[in-house]
Amino acid sequence: MNTYVYTLGDALYINLTNQCTNRCEFCVRNLHPGVGGYDLWLDKEPTAQEVIERIGDPSKYSEVVFCGYGEPMVKLDEIIAIARVLKEKGTKIRINTNGQANLYHGKNIVPLLEGLVDVVSISLNAPTAEKYQEICHSIYGVDAFDAVLDFARECAKVIPKVVFTVVDLLPPEDMERCRRIADEIGVELRVRKLME
Ligand code: SF4
Repeated sequence: MNTYVYTLGDALYINLTNQCTNRCEFCVRNLHPGVGGYDLWLDKEPTAQEVIERIGDPSKYSEVVFCGYGEPMVKLDEIIAIARVLKEKGTKIRINTNGQANLYHGKNIVPLLEGLVDVVSISLNAPTAEKYQEICHSIYGVDAFDAVLDFARECAKVIPKVVFTVVDLLPPEDMERCRRIADEIGVELRVRKLME
């Protein structure tokens, strides 16, 4: 219980929180208590120090991924504190996020990640604000989508690799529109399988 550090393949995943600003229709949390056989509902959110101690030697992992079973960027201070320690050891760091951190924190937090984070993977999910809100039910309403795009633009300025993800259930025309959005912003688009 209280699994806040776990491995999948050769990567290490960090589960800082179950909080999220979305309620996505396809969220794996609606179906399962976790992934990879881990129960990822937290009794208590871990501190940065607890995570650092639990990680131990990060050199045996291909990358460390802040993923949550929720939205990791809610725990920005913890991400920065942990990433600083990992970066000193040369660890590759990725954040999987819904891209609403600047709305949540009320300012552009992306510069704080510069030099610490190698990859930011942002769930795009839809090609328009209305469709995004229909699927993701953000607490910020239809404003969320444009904020996600702005967040990606900010990330593209300072993060070495930025990826938009969409699930493979999107209709082809929506997929194509998502691809054009990714191209315009200058980030990759990755189509991922919906978890079942
Ligand atoms: S943003 Fe991620 S964690 Fe949050 S509801 Fe959507 S799929 Fe679930």
